[in-house]
Amino acid sequence: MARRRQIYEGKAKILYEGPEPGTLIQYFKDDATAFNAQKRGTINGKGVLNNRISEHVFTLLGNIGVPHHFIRRLNMREQLIRQVEIVPIEVIVRNVAAGTLSKRLGIEEGTQLPRTLIEYCYKDDALGDPLVAEEHIACFNWCSQDELHDIQDMAIRINDFMSGMFAGVGIRLVDFKLEFGRLYEGDYSRIILADEISPDGCRLWDMVSGEKLDKDRFRRDLGGEVEAYQEVARRLGLLPEGGDNAVLDLESHRKKKS
Ligand code: 5GP
Repeated sequence: MARRRQIYEGKAKILYEGPEPGTLIQYFKDDATAFNAQKRGTINGKGVLNNRISEHVFTLLGNIGVPHHFIRRLNMREQLIRQVEIVPIEVIVRNVAAGTLSKRLGIEEGTQLPRTLIEYCYKDDALGDPLVAEEHIACFNWCSQDELHDIQDMAIRINDFMSGMFAGVGIRLVDFKLEFGRLYEGDYSRIILADEISPDGCRLWDMVSGEKLDKDRFRRDLGGEVEAYQEVARRLGLLPEGGDNAVLDLESHRKKKS
């Protein structure tokens, strides 16, 4: 069998050449990194859960008309996607103060923001993905003004949809990161949603207990990472209930530990 060609390896995913021109295969790893890869680890089964959760969210976003790169899931760890030219900006959408926003501005974590805040980081590992303003994006032409408007419109729609989706299963969508790409069609290109949407790039808090159900469990050494990711998948209806596949939820994790 011919060995497939690797296009790119990131911290949590690998991209391989796809079966047809203009397609790629996105492979989800179990590797976890934090603080610009200064902290490294493995979360067993994370790749499988993120593949499934991201498939679910992208499919639902597609159903409400958000254009995206996802074509179909191929197996437990891989999905077929459209090849795009990634816009070198991480789009951070925030509903509640947490993480670097709290640190930077001295706002207590958990404070509801008076309006949704969109921030931008320049995608550059060597620089630690620095926060940038719209002015930098325009000045260095990382994307055009029209493209940025499309990105902002999509980010707000995605946030509204995901906030409702997660609220419906008792989860508060605190903040999340999005990436977008250019899809070329002849001489023209349009912006579509790319990358992944999973607990790796979202802050998800249980609405009642405030328990963290996302990568902050790894970043902050809280333990129970797999159980938290499983809990998100279970609440979204992506894991079978009961039986041998019974999901270990955070409550059982705590009981087991104590
Ligand atoms: P913060 O800036 O507070 O660290 O992160 C804000 C949100 O964006 C969090 O939900 C976090 O998970 C996500 N985020 C920011 N940068 C990255 C990144 O480089 N990778 C991933 N997976 N998520 C990120």
